[in-house]
Amino acid sequence: MFDFQIAATSGAARTGTLTLPHGTVETPVFMPVGTQGTVRALSPTDLKAVGASMVLANTYHLHVRPGEDIVSQLGGLHRFMAWDRPLLTDSGGFQVFSLAGFRRVDDDGVEFQSHVDGARRTLTPERATEIQWTLGADIAMAFDHVAPGQADEATSRDALERTLRWLERCARRHEELTNGLTDQPPNRQTLWPILQGGTHRTLREEGLRRVREMGSWTGVAIGGLSVGEPKPKMLEVLELLEPRLPGPLPRYLMGVGFPEDLVAAVERGVDLFDCVAPTRNGRNGSAFTAEGQVNIRNAAFRADDAPLDATCDCETCTSYSRGYLRHLFVAEELLGLRLLSLHNVRYLIRLAEAMRAAIRKGNGALAAWADDWRRRYTQPGIA
Ligand SMILES: [Zn+2]
Repeated sequence: MFDFQIAATSGAARTGTLTLPHGTVETPVFMPVGTQGTVRALSPTDLKAVGASMVLANTYHLHVRPGEDIVSQLGGLHRFMAWDRPLLTDSGGFQVFSLAGFRRVDDDGVEFQSHVDGARRTLTPERATEIQWTLGADIAMAFDHVAPGQADEATSRDALERTLRWLERCARRHEELTNGLTDQPPNRQTLWPILQGGTHRTLREEGLRRVREMGSWTGVAIGGLSVGEPKPKMLEVLELLEPRLPGPLPRYLMGVGFPEDLVAAVERGVDLFDCVAPTRNGRNGSAFTAEGQVNIRNAAFRADDAPLDATCDCETCTSYSRGYLRHLFVAEELLGLRLLSLHNVRYLIRLAEAMRAAIRKGNGALAAWADDWRRRYTQPGIA
């Protein structure tokens, strides 16, 4: 039920097939983020139209509203959000450390204040595991302590040690829940660990070694990156981890999803990505295109009859002009938010498709493709 087969490699980059209870996923893959059980402004029909094979939902948000029991009463997360393909839930760790108001961390867990109603709540490794089990995604994530990107070694060490202790508790609780299954299909959910350690080489190496010793996982997530550290530091950590990660396990780089980061991370052996950037940028009128990022509100597009991205096959690019899209944003029409979100998600899914094809071609095709892509995407003089 949880299987990953690598079909081809090119340097550190790989392409393969991840098999999960709700279907198969070709990697490298970009997962759109459905924070509150919906990818903002996009329906499941939209997501399928742009080729999305897997979606991420946020445990913290669904726990504080509407609550996992409501989701369960309404048939579980897949049925609740009408998405019948694979789902991954994060553990809520990132949100309680970055979003929730008040928080107090000790070894038991995190006490925080809900951003919805101000109520004090506690999330422990066991609770985070139970909530995700109740939601019922294909992949659940271990509850982790996320330190800021610029954290010093002592702070990162503290967060790493706590994350490792919590991982053991998450794994134990997840195993109990799996073993307790009676009337449900077996192996309906798998749990992935999250690697922490900030930008400190020794902590990253040690953290990975200890996580590997703790279990035979079906996948592994790289956390604590894209949280405010300088970009070259993120790439350094990926380069450090790559040869040390078990080859057959799928690798998920959490919260990364700007086009240039996706390409650089695939070149460094990453298989799965998620990020709110395509939908958040889309709602702000910012679009990823073959020639770089474009802001559709720019007055230069007022009478522009060209598509947003002439190389794109999405509904937005095959139906509407830049002039019309700009008009929608200037007039604050809701359709504009949907059309740019749709295009941006399609852009990242096409990017992953192009990299899969290049990796399969072999003979340095990925490196040549990436050089060409970077030259066009980063060219100067674009609005
Ligand atoms: Zn498009």
